[in-house]
Amino acid sequence: MPLKVYISGKHYDKDDAKISVYDHGLLYGDGVFEGIRSYGGKVFRLQQHLDRLWNSAKAIWLEIPMTQEAMAQAIRDTLAVNGIEDGYIRVVVTRGCGTLGLDPNRCSHPEVIIITDRIALYPEEYYRDGLSIITVSTLRNHPAALSPRIKSLNYLNNILAKIEGLQAGCIEALMLNHKGEVAECTGDNIFIARFGKLMTPPNEAGILEGITRESVIGLARQSGIEVLEIPLTKHDIYIADECFLTGTAAEIVPVVKVDSRKIGDGRPGPMTRDLMQQFHRLTRS
Ligand code: PMP
Repeated sequence: MPLKVYISGKHYDKDDAKISVYDHGLLYGDGVFEGIRSYGGKVFRLQQHLDRLWNSAKAIWLEIPMTQEAMAQAIRDTLAVNGIEDGYIRVVVTRGCGTLGLDPNRCSHPEVIIITDRIALYPEEYYRDGLSIITVSTLRNHPAALSPRIKSLNYLNNILAKIEGLQAGCIEALMLNHKGEVAECTGDNIFIARFGKLMTPPNEAGILEGITRESVIGLARQSGIEVLEIPLTKHDIYIADECFLTGTAAEIVPVVKVDSRKIGDGRPGPMTRDLMQQFHRLTRS
């Protein structure tokens, strides 16, 4: 059976799930999205994802044409028609079909798309051995131009950084902000551990407020670990005892090398491994 995709109230076979070429989501990246996981049939942190989606939409003057309850139900229905228990959910809200001009007022109605699919996981060895990443020259978007807190359909900033990383043989790339501080990776937030404390850049550094980041901060604090949301420089990363990334798809993935410098002893550290286990229990319990 082909996968079914939800578009504005109806389910379509994957191959027939289509959006107009006049949709401003395509023409201008005018829209917002979310990436969500479902574990054992339960959607992880659904309310937080819906809140972030609604906040992203609000920031770009986009009114989502349904309630959060209806969206939650549509997500559950789409998982159910596809028989997916452990999967990845992509929710997209576009500005809708308009003219070739920028004016969003000339768009008819926003389209709501829900794709539920199997998840493409990172290979096991990334979790066992850790990642090597590099800092790239593409700066994270200036928050006063386009806030990284908006999860918009325009991901070129991240894509350009990703290409730089890939060209250097790295699956993830670290982006700095306009002040030269560490911001985040192309699709993941970053944490370091030093002297038994966890540190991660604050929202003001110009980052997406990651939902995995928030869960990890919660888990760490529950286990008595002090977590500081403070500006970090590349130097702080280089001299860290441990480093890891967080994201919906990646969950928690250790980083063992940054810009060719070994982090700690070059292996995933104890705090990282402990948080990985705790996160696993949190999502699979
Ligand atoms: N930063 C960026 C730029 C991202 O795209 C993502 C993935 N959505 C994250 C961080 C991690 O956020 P989350 O934990 O909510 O998936």
